[in-house]
Amino acid sequence: MLNLETIYDDYLNRLQEERNEKYKEYEEWFSGSSAGSCYKKQWYRVNGFETEPFDQRTKRLLRLGTIVHSDVEQALSEAEASDGVEVLLEHEIKMPEFNVVGHLDHCFIRRKDNNIEIYVSDLKTLASYSWTRKFGRNAIKQSINMIPTFGHYELQVATYALGMLKSLMPDLPHFNTTEINYEIDKIKNDISINIVWYNKNDSKMKTTEISVDALHAAIAYWNDLNDFVKEEKGIESIPPNGAVGVPMQDWECKYCQYKQHCIK
Ligand code: SF4
Repeated sequence: MLNLETIYDDYLNRLQEERNEKYKEYEEWFSGSSAGSCYKKQWYRVNGFETEPFDQRTKRLLRLGTIVHSDVEQALSEAEASDGVEVLLEHEIKMPEFNVVGHLDHCFIRRKDNNIEIYVSDLKTLASYSWTRKFGRNAIKQSINMIPTFGHYELQVATYALGMLKSLMPDLPHFNTTEINYEIDKIKNDISINIVWYNKNDSKMKTTEISVDALHAAIAYWNDLNDFVKEEKGIESIPPNGAVGVPMQDWECKYCQYKQHCIK
């Protein structure tokens, strides 16, 4: 008899192998989607350490996210863009200054005379629990006194926006100079950075616009990470909580694909 689960799992494994093959040339690059992650985890990646494979359930969950992504992408590609608006979907972002590569979900560009307006957005699928923590009553109450900080998702989409800015405005200063922050502040009214949230349990959708300050936070993160990787000696022997950014957040170790190397 046919075993559907095994057939689907084999299919997902094949897709994963194809994906690994496709991105082989970027094995020594940081991935834009890992913005805000533990520095040591990043070091393991660019040094080619073996990752613990995802279990099948996680692979199916990730696949569900990919399917929603391609559906929205298809809808956008069929939609009629406003006059003079350029639409980029699943667009490659490459920032050699940071050794970062990635793909943004959606970007809309409007050029007028010497002015460029850009809208960048990333789609995130969330389970109900995470949705409630983000948008539920407690999350709203908590946010009244919260100092704005940028999490992993915000830094990720800000990284894509930075990549777009660099490709549209190649004369912008180098990312490791203070001038870049001044230049970004000058054009911040022309930049819109967004996350489109999709609740996997009830299919609700919500879009949140992120402060342009996330661009500064993303610049600081990638500069710090590059300094850490270049300057820090004996990274392999740093235990969890043994240095700033290792890990970046308490929950990271539990889900880390490198923990078999890191936690002895
Ligand atoms: S186990 Fe924790 S400290 Fe070690 S690489 Fe992973 S996230 Fe970082």
